[in-house]
Amino acid sequence: MACLPPETAPRVPAPVPADKRNGADVKAASLAPQGLYRPRYQRTPAMRSPDYVQLSTAAAITLGLIPGKLHRCSCTRCLNLLLTYPEGCRANCAYCGLARHRERETNYADRNFIRVDWPAVPLDEVIERIAAQGEATPFERMCISMITHPNSDADTPRVLERWRARIPHARIPVSILSNPTTMRREDVRELYDLGAEIFTVALDACTPQVFERTRGKGVDSPHTWGTYWRVFDEARAIFGPQRTGMHLIVGMGESDRDVLEICARLHALEAHSHLFCFYPERGSLMDHVPATDRSRWRRVQLARYLIEYAGHPFAALRFSPEGALVDFGMEKGKLDAIIATGIPFRTSGCPGKQREDVSACDRPYGDSPPSNIASYPFQPNGHDLRQIRRQLAEVGKVSA
Ligand code: SF4
Repeated sequence: MACLPPETAPRVPAPVPADKRNGADVKAASLAPQGLYRPRYQRTPAMRSPDYVQLSTAAAITLGLIPGKLHRCSCTRCLNLLLTYPEGCRANCAYCGLARHRERETNYADRNFIRVDWPAVPLDEVIERIAAQGEATPFERMCISMITHPNSDADTPRVLERWRARIPHARIPVSILSNPTTMRREDVRELYDLGAEIFTVALDACTPQVFERTRGKGVDSPHTWGTYWRVFDEARAIFGPQRTGMHLIVGMGESDRDVLEICARLHALEAHSHLFCFYPERGSLMDHVPATDRSRWRRVQLARYLIEYAGHPFAALRFSPEGALVDFGMEKGKLDAIIATGIPFRTSGCPGKQREDVSACDRPYGDSPPSNIASYPFQPNGHDLRQIRRQLAEVGKVSA
């Protein structure tokens, strides 16, 4: 078994005092929420799903709930709704801004997650605003993000029911970002029966060792590699071909081969891989770990695209003895033409309405700052493509 690089090891959190645990402050104050709540705006109200949800800063701007502009994007096309409770997520994943250890310093609804704030708002207000947009809505998909909380399995179907009662599937299909640790097969089935279109599992860590170190016993977190794959297999059987996805983070101690083997496995199972570039989330247990080198990220992005959308076999890829991708195994002219489309370098996720290989879930700047984009939330232009080609060429050894 390979040793994990020490530089990607999570730090050890300071203990959480008893009076800070489980949302104690928020529950003791018991402030009634008054509509929109912006993180760190005032004392945190006691907000609970399904009546309240949090949504990404990009979605809140797109919905007109808060002012702001998105760098080089007119809007986001995915409405990500995150379940919310004063107790927060009870897991402790090392790379995540929502992790339990943060209750020492911040309430759940005030935490940053994939680099941004998540304002909270009544679910019915979100639904009414979307319904009022009618066919003109910019959103091409809605996604309910579950967390590790005792009520998450019961509340997710309630959010979905309320949404589906007002928003037709053909207008905005729904994805579920699941929490396998607490889910039973019946929970997965109920979400399918209520009209969810796509079910995703955030495996995130690409080897059992990295998983254990970043979201299992290594950080006092309840998740297991086996449970994640079991629920994924159950979902695949229920949702069917092309209707399941798996999130994978590149840069937490795994090799390129580890990531791409999973991409190939998912492709063979008629499922999809959604890649994220590791970024040191502020306040997380991996906030000291460097972001993934861009040249490495670009080649993994490209190889994943070749496997999923260009019919390129995993067996054609060539790796170093350490598992670094050193050759795409594709004729230069053909590879060049695929790079020139720019699509392999866009954010990957559940599809929208443009084409199968362009994700609705564009997560603007969720895995990088705008000054050094990892996943492009828009179509890369000529300048971007020159930068991408430079980044690919920096590897030196890769045939590109
Ligand atoms: S279960 Fe999800 S939300 Fe909770 S700490 Fe882990 S990654 Fe973050």
